[in-house]
Amino acid sequence: MTGLIVVLVFLLGLTALVLGRTLYFAPPRGRAEAEFSGCGEAAPDALDRLSRAITFPTICAQDYTGTDFTPFDRFIAFLEEAYPLFHRTCEGERVNGYALVYRWKGSDPSLAPMMLTAHYDVVPVEAGTEAEWTHPGFSGARAEGRIWGRGTLDIKSQLTAHLEAAEALIREGFVPKRDFYFVYGQDEETGGRNGAYKAADYFAEKGIRFAGVLDEGGFVVSGVLKGIKTPLALIGVAEKGFCNYELTLEGEGGHSSMPPVHSALGYAAKLIAAIETHPLRSRLSLPAGLMLRNIAGEMGFMMRMAVANLWLFRPLLLWILGRNPVTNAMIRSTFAATMARASNAANVLPQRARAVINVRLLPGDSVAAVAEYFKKLGKGLPLSIRPLEAEEASPVSPAEGPLYDRITGLIGEIYPGALATPYLVMGGTDARKYYKVCDYVYRFTPVLVTNEEKNTVHGTNESISIVNYSRMIYFYRRLIGGFDGEAFPAMI
Ligand SMILES: [Zn+2]
Repeated sequence: MTGLIVVLVFLLGLTALVLGRTLYFAPPRGRAEAEFSGCGEAAPDALDRLSRAITFPTICAQDYTGTDFTPFDRFIAFLEEAYPLFHRTCEGERVNGYALVYRWKGSDPSLAPMMLTAHYDVVPVEAGTEAEWTHPGFSGARAEGRIWGRGTLDIKSQLTAHLEAAEALIREGFVPKRDFYFVYGQDEETGGRNGAYKAADYFAEKGIRFAGVLDEGGFVVSGVLKGIKTPLALIGVAEKGFCNYELTLEGEGGHSSMPPVHSALGYAAKLIAAIETHPLRSRLSLPAGLMLRNIAGEMGFMMRMAVANLWLFRPLLLWILGRNPVTNAMIRSTFAATMARASNAANVLPQRARAVINVRLLPGDSVAAVAEYFKKLGKGLPLSIRPLEAEEASPVSPAEGPLYDRITGLIGEIYPGALATPYLVMGGTDARKYYKVCDYVYRFTPVLVTNEEKNTVHGTNESISIVNYSRMIYFYRRLIGGFDGEAFPAMI
């Protein structure tokens, strides 16, 4: 009897603790306030400049040396003509030919500089899909309240919005306290090795360290995570790494009429099956943990309870997150078998079978460690592994500090109903290259996009609403003007 009472008291106490923690952890916030209407629509000539920027097909070839740089040269000439005050005020430098570096000198040399960055290369319009575009992919057409074409969301718009903001501030006589650098890569879509990497080296050689770097990578989104209605402003504090592993399996060649039990291709299939059924253990990496804690108040009661009581529910929470591909990618390094090749003829046994596994690395997992893991899974098989292109996961930037606070402050102003949150970027951006010269690297573009709009990035009908572009200009104007408490002219 006493035993039963002890158990009951324990269970009651546990329930009270779990519920108490849940209720006090992150109460749901009030509903969205009125939409911000403070910035109005950008001037027609600013919209024209973005339209023109879109018309240059600045596409890097996979093999960089094969790139046609004529559109890049024309784009740079266009910038000089379109933003004359900016070019007169800022020192410009071209690093490795086409990476653009501009320095707007501040009045107080004792302050560490800030960097705003983007890339001006774009991906091509996929052959055969041209006719599916409402307005051609390099038209820059202004119609239906939008500007259309490659680079409107990824991400020439960010570059031109920076320059619109700076040009206007210069015209109004503004001078920042600290240096602002504007840095634009020319090959982000093909890996950034000739642009952002070289720019980062350039700064490192000069001994310049930044107080903050802001690149692309997260948007304000709604409806991306199930059950969360509040728009989330995703500020990328880290990005996953990636590696393509080539797996080669040896086998006996010869005629297929008298085959061994396993051909090289059979071995490859065995290994791929083992890899798919043995994912790496999930874990709450730092950025995913920060994000969950931050958005817990917007989630249903059960999820909130789990996040508020990780000491008890961590395994359950990881299990739930692991069941959905979107959230699964946040909590583990993912494996995707994407390519395979073996014999060239139906009746010839392959001497060699090759497969490629595309891996996205969570911060904390390394290219070498995953190769070891595959080796272990393939123990006993005639296997060799070669990492092809690889990029380690980035470090994690703190979700605090002057730049982070400035970004969240402006999000609160422009998107009063949205919740700003740290986030792990799944793809790769140029931002990772700048950890060499900065600890506070962020990825965020201040536009509110729907899921459909997000899917036009690298797809058909990439376009930006004029409302969004106007907000972008406003955001950078407010970010630069008054970063260090300067008095700057109010937005017209
Ligand atoms: Zn991009």
